[in-house]
Amino acid sequence: MNILIMGPAGSGKGTMSKKLHDEFGVAHISTGDMLRENVKNNTPLGHQAKDFMETGRLVPDELINEMVKERLLRADVEKGYLMDGFPRTLVQAKAFEDITKEINKPVDIVVNLKVDVDTLAARITGRRVCKNCGAIYHIKNSPSKVEGICDVCGNATVQRPDDTLEQLQVRLKEHTTNTEPVLDYYREKGLVQDFEASRPADEVWLEIKQAIEAIF
Ligand code: AMP
Repeated sequence: MNILIMGPAGSGKGTMSKKLHDEFGVAHISTGDMLRENVKNNTPLGHQAKDFMETGRLVPDELINEMVKERLLRADVEKGYLMDGFPRTLVQAKAFEDITKEINKPVDIVVNLKVDVDTLAARITGRRVCKNCGAIYHIKNSPSKVEGICDVCGNATVQRPDDTLEQLQVRLKEHTTNTEPVLDYYREKGLVQDFEASRPADEVWLEIKQAIEAIF
């Protein structure tokens, strides 16, 4: 089962990805998480990516494609992959087509999450993430039991540096310019299913789960 999940920042890709991973056992590959890990560990890739990420711009395609190619060679991809936040440009989509041919794992479905801009803004500015384990909270919709402390591992929860209204505008523009053509590319192949994702997470999840179960 090979899935792409797409949608602008704040559309719920991370939340739905966790559920997809837990339910279907697919390897959750988030290019954003991988890049943040590289920044945290001060790797050469992290150094190259940091400025782009902090200002909401896309990291250059060559760096991303190389990182994804390596990741797809790991054993946990055996049951399938769930790409979260990739491909974000047509160049990445075409490179991904070559990689998936090599490993014989073509895309089965593109889950597209659609959310209005006001909801995105409220979600992004209220989002908090655990510095240690990456668990996601929202100060109003799903707060941690103790403010600022992760329920899962007890470490501090923080606001991502790009989770501001200003950066959201840049990220939405990137999405319109670069990522919507990617959606069109997969739409032409008949792979995209749209989900109205402004609604509560449980409702959205039920629909996604049913759509995937109908395919496999
Ligand atoms: P995300 O967690 O998916 O919102 O990604 C956070 C940031 O990482 C983005 O704003 C980009 O700077 C960078 N990033 C993540 N995935 C990609 C990608 N596929 N292509 C380029 N940049 C990316």
